[in-house]
Amino acid sequence: MALKNKYLADLLETVKKRNQGEPEFIQAVTEVFISLEPVAEKRPDLIEAGVFERIVEPERQIIFRVPWVDDNGVTRVNRGFRIEFNSAIGPYKGGLRLHPSVYLGIIKFLGFEQIFKNSLTTLPMGGGKGGSDFDPKGKSDGEVMRFCQSFMTELCKHIGPNTDVPAGDIGTGGREIGYMFGQYKRLRNEFTGVLTGKGLTFGGSLARTEATGYGLCYYTEEMLKANGKSFKGQTVVISGSGNVAIYATQKATELGAKVVALSDSNGYIYDENGIDLALVKQLKEVERKRIKEYVNVHPEAKYTEGCSGIWTIPCDIALPCATQNEIDEQSAKTLAKNGCYAVSEGANMPSTPEAIDVYFANNMLYGPAKAANAGGVAVSGLEMSQNSERLAWTFEDVDGRLKNIMKEIFKSCDEAAKEYGCEGNYMAGANIAGFLKVAEAMKAQGCV
Ligand code: NDP
Repeated sequence: MALKNKYLADLLETVKKRNQGEPEFIQAVTEVFISLEPVAEKRPDLIEAGVFERIVEPERQIIFRVPWVDDNGVTRVNRGFRIEFNSAIGPYKGGLRLHPSVYLGIIKFLGFEQIFKNSLTTLPMGGGKGGSDFDPKGKSDGEVMRFCQSFMTELCKHIGPNTDVPAGDIGTGGREIGYMFGQYKRLRNEFTGVLTGKGLTFGGSLARTEATGYGLCYYTEEMLKANGKSFKGQTVVISGSGNVAIYATQKATELGAKVVALSDSNGYIYDENGIDLALVKQLKEVERKRIKEYVNVHPEAKYTEGCSGIWTIPCDIALPCATQNEIDEQSAKTLAKNGCYAVSEGANMPSTPEAIDVYFANNMLYGPAKAANAGGVAVSGLEMSQNSERLAWTFEDVDGRLKNIMKEIFKSCDEAAKEYGCEGNYMAGANIAGFLKVAEAMKAQGCV
């Protein structure tokens, strides 16, 4: 889809020139600009205040060397990033991704998306993201610890409980957050809520581990309900088998669905009897093994090498929970052809623009990532509140608040879409609702 609004089209050209070699970032900005066309028409004051120009330029970009020593005594060097994208409505907030594919363009796309996602939660959090091209896979605990300590030795100069509060993402789970928190505390000599996703013994929030996957299902259930459907009795395919995928599987199953497939970056499993989640948790959370091991315990299930084939499995609802651009046009067409009527995103930007076009062309329900997966950062926001109060809320309390937040997020997406003339397009609704709150704050704070 091309931009019709000349002001936004010209600005997108500038963004492309200024951020060459960063296709994921350009993709994220293009999607948001397409959704914001009616806003640009209706709100010339925001153009006058330079809000569009300013929101696509990170406030600060930090890139640093991360040297560490492996188990053989060999020095290794990775590259660390923290993009402090926008602090109009609160301290920068967003996860740290540890994956070999990480480079500036990935962190910028994630940081940009995070601005709108955090705004949608209604909590006071700005947008940021960070990470490194370090791969925790296959590394010993000692190696991961030395990397995390080195990473935090530099990062600690830039973050703080009222400045920038990182969290987990791909490759950064409880173990990594623990090592980073320990190093921050040691260097700064202070015990503060500087990271979220912490262990429960040192300030973590109950239900944070479950939050993104559960939140995805709460959002999706709202979207389904608004369209006369529900998870009950539906067949669901979920990609990935990490934090988001595991807890999405758990909640979708609790809501009455049957999840029949999961994957990792090597391949996918199909179990038509429904996924044995206790086994997946043991393999992935405890033993850190590959998903193919599943068929050793369940020989009636099938393992297929290569992960994109997962979208050929017939299903009613697809929940991509692995990584960006994992559903392309062809996969989207296959999903539609096989009767899938709803795609809701646990991962960030898992659908290519062409795939999204296919969803709309086939009248599928589409829950966009920045709304559907906002539960993780929402509970991170609740963790920050608990840390400030020096209190710990119960699981039920946090889970109840999460459910309400996800319901409200769906409502804002739905209402904004209606108000701006694109009813049922929750992607446009999410972008518009998320943008407007930040834009008003940026305008009120002047040209900063
Ligand atoms: P994890 O590291 O826990 O799990 C990631 C899963 O995705 C793993 O199964 C991994 O397989 C798979 N995966 C990663 N890269 C690829 C790839 N290129 N192709 C196929 N599979 C891949 O991460 P999370 O579950 O935390 O994150 C998953 C997604 O959800 C990401 O897009 C993340 O940004 C997003 N997200 C996460 C939040 C959170 O709270 N954790 C919050 C909001 C969004 P393998 O082990 O083989 O690498």
